[in-house]
Amino acid sequence: MDLLAYPAQVAELEAIQRILGARPAPPPPLAPLGPPGAGRCVVCRAERARPCSACGAVAYCGPEHHARDARWHAPACEALRRAEEDGAHCRSDPPRGEPPPAVAQAGSPLGGWVDRLGRPPDPGAPADRRSTRWLSRPLTVVSLAERLGWWRPGAATFRVHVAGATPYELEQVPAWRELTERWPETRVHLTWIGPELVGWTAPQGPERLAVSVRGGLYDPALVADLGAPDAVVAFDAGLVRYPSWERTVRAVLAARAPLVVTSYSPWELALEARLLAASGGRHLVPPGPNPFASLAPLRSSTIANAVRYENGWLAAVQGG
Ligand SMILES: [Zn+2]
Ligand SMILES: [Zn+2]
Repeated sequence: MDLLAYPAQVAELEAIQRILGARPAPPPPLAPLGPPGAGRCVVCRAERARPCSACGAVAYCGPEHHARDARWHAPACEALRRAEEDGAHCRSDPPRGEPPPAVAQAGSPLGGWVDRLGRPPDPGAPADRRSTRWLSRPLTVVSLAERLGWWRPGAATFRVHVAGATPYELEQVPAWRELTERWPETRVHLTWIGPELVGWTAPQGPERLAVSVRGGLYDPALVADLGAPDAVVAFDAGLVRYPSWERTVRAVLAARAPLVVTSYSPWELALEARLLAASGGRHLVPPGPNPFASLAPLRSSTIANAVRYENGWLAAVQGG
């Protein structure tokens, strides 16, 4: 972890709260501190600090700095505990295991996790966190494609381009079986495109799922070369953080292909939704929470009391 200095962390948390319009809550009860350990105090960086006994994720030099950070730590403590439990750090350690058998059949609506799991997911259960993290990407695509008519019953093919893809996403190829299981008559073509994929080859896909990989930026030349797909997706893209996205966004909108962009956080999405509209994108759904967000919290690498959720929020736009 490469934490920011404490005042900078607090400034970011306050900015997030302003964007969300959240009112400061009364200080909640504090879990006691454990014995001194290897960590540093989040406030003053003193060594041999005492970790929060509830989560073990944030440590303090003593009661004074513990109390000072309570406003930020208390609301994040349980999610940090879950992140520690999952051993989830950034993009390493991808979730594994068999996904639960599908409940919703083709033709029945797929509006959220309840339709897929047959019950509300339990964010407190490690198995549900793992399943939602594993299935979030394919189900985000399948639900929007059905809802917005990008895929229609009886379609022979369905083509998806994943822009700005990472090796981590390639490890999730088996999860994309969700599409072929739900659409038995359709052959799904899935192309992962990204600068991080130079030198990578396509893994073997499940039956009726054709997988290919292109290393490099998804720019106008590549869009022209591959042809317009039924949908383009950019998972947790960070559009406003990486200026190279601008070329990709313009190329996709010019090709009139629907573009789905997911974000870790609502404040990031708010900025991205504005950027997409400014680039000529027409919003197809109100930008907002993704019904197929991962429920597995991941720790921020720069702010001790922040977590993020893969594909937590989404926007879908189209050019023309
Ligand atoms: Zn301290
Ligand atoms: Zn804690």
